[in-house]
Amino acid sequence: MQPPLDTLQRPLRDLRISVTDRCNFRCHYCMPAEIFGPGYAFLPKPEILTHEEIARSASAFSSLGVEKLRITGGEPLLRRGLSDLVAMLSEIPGHHDLAITTNGVLLGRHANSLKEAGLHRVTVSLDALSEEVFSKMNGVGASPDKVIAGVDAAISAGLGVKINCVVQKGVNEQEVLPLAEFARDRGVTLRFIEFMDTGNTNRWQLDQVVPSADLLEKLKSRFDLEASQSPLLGETAKRYQHVDQPEVEIGFISSVSQPFCRDCNRARLSADGQIFTCLFAEKGHDLKSLLRSGATDAQLADEVSRIWHRRSDRYSEIRAEGGERTKPEMSYIGG
Ligand code: SAM
Ligand code: SF4
Ligand code: SF4
Repeated sequence: MQPPLDTLQRPLRDLRISVTDRCNFRCHYCMPAEIFGPGYAFLPKPEILTHEEIARSASAFSSLGVEKLRITGGEPLLRRGLSDLVAMLSEIPGHHDLAITTNGVLLGRHANSLKEAGLHRVTVSLDALSEEVFSKMNGVGASPDKVIAGVDAAISAGLGVKINCVVQKGVNEQEVLPLAEFARDRGVTLRFIEFMDTGNTNRWQLDQVVPSADLLEKLKSRFDLEASQSPLLGETAKRYQHVDQPEVEIGFISSVSQPFCRDCNRARLSADGQIFTCLFAEKGHDLKSLLRSGATDAQLADEVSRIWHRRSDRYSEIRAEGGERTKPEMSYIGG
């Protein structure tokens, strides 16, 4: 077993910002419809950080070395005035990579304004091309057409585009090769994510996880792939490229079969202003109270730094040890 982490070895470089805990999908691996139904208590509006509060928080993280800002949720495109928030984040001093993760349904409508506001990249979640499989997985019977139109609109708008696919055994393994063809045709990166035991509601079982190694083998039976050079520190995906089209990559995020906690440099800010230093942290750290109590920028940055340097998270490394734990829902904390 690996020794506990010396937390100071892991710099803070990446911030995920959840801008809403609501969503227009009910993917069963994230927001099962039977739990997130009409009676579910989403965050009340006054609890949700305003654009200004989010930008101030991001600025504090940025002053500590954060280089990547990713807007997520819930479904971030459900948030009103998202382009205004993007514009505010793009004005934070420093060279940030500014991205969004979305289910893509509303992307066709917003791609141009997001690009104009200063967004660099978009990751679109797309688990299947088959109408039947996709509509079942998203829990609301939506067809993949709008998502595909969203991908195409983002490409036309000049945004960098990636596609994320969560693979579940017995559910969408047969979609892996068609999705790889789809991404290759469009020249976009595709990333396969192992199904994770996030939250407390998705009924995760280890035997539903398709290890990335199995997917790679399947993909190699169809495509000529080679490992991409120069893995980057803190990068969560293992990357491969098509030999005859090296600009197109396929990545694997293998948090279950190959944990990467030792390189984890990512913090998360929930829509109600809680900082989570791990996707599986039992509790967050309240930044909202400080934001709303007149704290200075320096005080905000000190608090973030204090929280980060006390962190010893390594859940994916110790998952197999089991034990009861209350974990934040992915739709609340942001993926
Ligand atoms: N609604 C947006 C979307 O789906 O892209 C953004 C939020 S969603 C929580 C962010 C990412 O988390 C998505 O790519 C989604 O597929 C992934 N995700 C959600 N639940 C997951 C799980 N249990 N295991 C692995 N990935 C998951
Ligand atoms: Fe919504 Fe994204 Fe979760 Fe699916 S993965 S339910 S689209 S937040
Ligand atoms: Fe980071 Fe926690 Fe995931 Fe490990 S389990 S990679 S510490 S978020």
